[in-house]
Amino acid sequence: MDQPFAITPTVAALVDADPHGPVARQFVPDAREHDFAPEELTDPIGDDRFSPVKGVVHRYKDRVLLKPLLSCPAYCRFCFRREMVGGEKTTLNARELDAAFDYIAAHDEIWEAILTGGDPFALSPRRLGAIVRRLDAIAHVEIIRIHTRVPVVDPNRVTATLVAALKCEKPVYVVLHCNHADEITAEARRACARLVDRGIPMLSQTVLLKGVNDDAATLEALFRALVRNRIKPYYLHHADLARGTSHFRTTIADGRALMAELRGRVSGLCQPTYVLDIPGGHGKVPVGPCYYDGSVVTDPHGRAHRYP
Ligand SMILES: *Cc1c(COP(=O)(O)O)cnc(C)c1O
Ligand code: SF4
Repeated sequence: MDQPFAITPTVAALVDADPHGPVARQFVPDAREHDFAPEELTDPIGDDRFSPVKGVVHRYKDRVLLKPLLSCPAYCRFCFRREMVGGEKTTLNARELDAAFDYIAAHDEIWEAILTGGDPFALSPRRLGAIVRRLDAIAHVEIIRIHTRVPVVDPNRVTATLVAALKCEKPVYVVLHCNHADEITAEARRACARLVDRGIPMLSQTVLLKGVNDDAATLEALFRALVRNRIKPYYLHHADLARGTSHFRTTIADGRALMAELRGRVSGLCQPTYVLDIPGGHGKVPVGPCYYDGSVVTDPHGRAHRYP
């Protein structure tokens, strides 16, 4: 299935301003999306294997993903769920949502519920608020986390009404998906400030993408801009093996070298963990670089020291 195409006025303006730039490369379809590499997969991180009921992925004991919808205001061409998003019926109906909440309520080992999709902030404040309140009412769910790209691709959706809809007894964390400093427009900064000003901690996740952000200066500018806006870089994801995305993928060695360049040169606040989501649903793990081999530790300048 071809991934759908959609962009927002905010993304369109960024593409117009720089038609071959880092935002255009992420959102404008490319003929190379039809080239499938042999190692690529329809379900690159194995979500399906761990889906007990529709819209729920329960891979780690203490946390679940809840995907209330599978559409986004703008589609990233490298999306790891590119063959699942944007189909015909993309929102869970009332019965399916009930089943998802029943599953979460029945599993008291679930400490954290993570709303993802698609993009949960593409729901109306009324529907999003209803979901947050249902999770808030499940006693063992202590943390609610929302993954979204809306504050950068469609910042005007982050209205005071939407932020108010997130108000509940439990901590709500928002993780912004952002890949380049160009995405952090004045409108995006205001959207994030509306969340943080209301006491919502923000983290970010970035996908390492060839031709978009695979150099140290670009990553440094991005992570500094995020921290300036009170958003803590959380993960730098190695690009998943989604079909038709090989033109975006770097090697793990490239990613490690970039992380090593940032270490020492950039504040620790600006350092995400570089992670790989292992195909087959085996989970996310940090992939380095590693500074200690059991007897020698490498300092930020690359010099080796014996330890202990
Ligand atoms: C990424 C992911 C999570 C969240 O992992 P964290 O390391 O806690 O951010 C949870 N469940 C699934 C299935 C995931 O893919
Ligand atoms: S916002 Fe997330 S789910 Fe939506 S297209 Fe981009 S990567 Fe995929």
